[in-house]
Amino acid sequence: MGGIGLAVNRARATLRDMHAAVAWTGRALKPVLDFALPPRCPGCGAVAEAPHRFCLACWSALTFLGDPCCARCALPFDYGSGADALCGACLAEPPAYDRLRAAVAYGDISREVALKLKYGGRPGIAETMARFMARHLDTGGGTIVAPVPLHRWRIWRRGYNQSALIATALASRAGLETKLDLIRRVKRTPPLRGMGPRERRDAVRGAFRVDKDKKAAVKGRTVLLIDDVYTSGATANACAGALRRAGAARIEILCWARVVKAGD
Ligand SMILES: [Zn+2]
Ligand SMILES: [Zn+2]
Repeated sequence: MGGIGLAVNRARATLRDMHAAVAWTGRALKPVLDFALPPRCPGCGAVAEAPHRFCLACWSALTFLGDPCCARCALPFDYGSGADALCGACLAEPPAYDRLRAAVAYGDISREVALKLKYGGRPGIAETMARFMARHLDTGGGTIVAPVPLHRWRIWRRGYNQSALIATALASRAGLETKLDLIRRVKRTPPLRGMGPRERRDAVRGAFRVDKDKKAAVKGRTVLLIDDVYTSGATANACAGALRRAGAARIEILCWARVVKAGD
């Protein structure tokens, strides 16, 4: 009896400590709740078997990307055409980057996951994305991982850059070096949604820069650029251009979701 009473008292003391920690700083609330609540499906939020696991319905609705695809931009091919085969768009106008890979096709569920990270700022979601993206890592040591930057006004409003959260999670999984401020967005760009390819290109022209003091770090290196969603490639190409001008030897892009159908 005494033993049970002691255990109850101890549990009460632990709870009191937790509440004190929560009262002391609101930041403590989230880890405590994350620990106490069951894992949720990153897509629909239903209770899931384990952390970072999608429920069956969301899993079936996701399209995982991989071979066969364009060697450069990862556009899916209907049948294998060889490891070096390029799509028509890449043949007509080679992108500024060397290789792009994406975990999933852009669709209802992958968009939901990206929005949860973008507006919910949940590092657990970044970890989920990083797990699926890591399968496409094909870089050796010495690679620098950098996110597509946001304009500082947007960071002030939101408090974080979603691509930087993914870059951090991915780099720590793969044991790669990160440089979160490698590229700077020097021009505020309008939302590209609804614009044609030429308009998008014009909108992001001159928007990204690698500052002088970072150039030494980039020269001759492979840079792995992280983005949440790859739509037209305008942003990724503008970033890749800035990296190339700074002397990067190879530029790879890894994103969570890639638009594969025109109009998305
Ligand atoms: Zn689900
Ligand atoms: Zn291509």
